[in-house]
Amino acid sequence: MLNRFLLTLDIDWAPDWMVTEAADLLVRAGVRATWFVTHRSPVLTELLSEPLFEVGVHPNFLPGSSHGSEPASVMQHVLDMVPGARTVRTHSLFQSERHSQMMAEDFGIRTDCSLLLMDSAHVAPHRVRFSSQGPWLTRVPHVFQDNMFMFSGRRWSLDHSAFSSPGLKVFDFHPVHLALNAHAFDVYEQLRCTGKPLADVTRADVQALRNPGAGAATLFRSLIDRMRDGSFTIDQYVDLWEAES
Ligand SMILES: [Zn+2]
Repeated sequence: MLNRFLLTLDIDWAPDWMVTEAADLLVRAGVRATWFVTHRSPVLTELLSEPLFEVGVHPNFLPGSSHGSEPASVMQHVLDMVPGARTVRTHSLFQSERHSQMMAEDFGIRTDCSLLLMDSAHVAPHRVRFSSQGPWLTRVPHVFQDNMFMFSGRRWSLDHSAFSSPGLKVFDFHPVHLALNAHAFDVYEQLRCTGKPLADVTRADVQALRNPGAGAATLFRSLIDRMRDGSFTIDQYVDLWEAES
């Protein structure tokens, strides 16, 4: 039960067509995933209505955030987009005890996925609380993140001991890296050098830059193939973990 692959995606202000491309692959294969949302757009309605998907929030607590200037206003802003969201991954994995406490105690967040334990074995959920009577916050670390994996020097393949070791394997992808099938950061840099805001990037813009070899998208497809037989969202997984522990 604990040796599971789980799929998550941080939307990170990607245009809808990039989100739809990734979502279509999942839906066609019947594979569940958890999305972390950054902004309002038409595709959000589709994600929310798809039973295979859990929609969580991706608050940006960094200076200059478009989500707000105070931690509580940032959380309120993202929860207004996804009312009742129970799962969070912070943008850039920003963390502090105070932010975690606020999310759990003031905003009803059940699960935080903002901890990257790259390539780690024996990963399992754990829970913390920030006051003696406060609600528990379950933390579900991930072991793979596409933009960080680019610096690992490893092949983009599931055929590696890090992915077959014991423990929970949560994968984190970004739609822009899937669209580019990026295998190295300079693929993304080339897109940035066009000077176009990400929201305005078209399929044609990406087509010219798309990596033809192994990359984020080919790994994503391999994972989906592996997960066809049974998959869970983060929230479903935490239900199972709680029932077992
Ligand atoms: Zn992010």
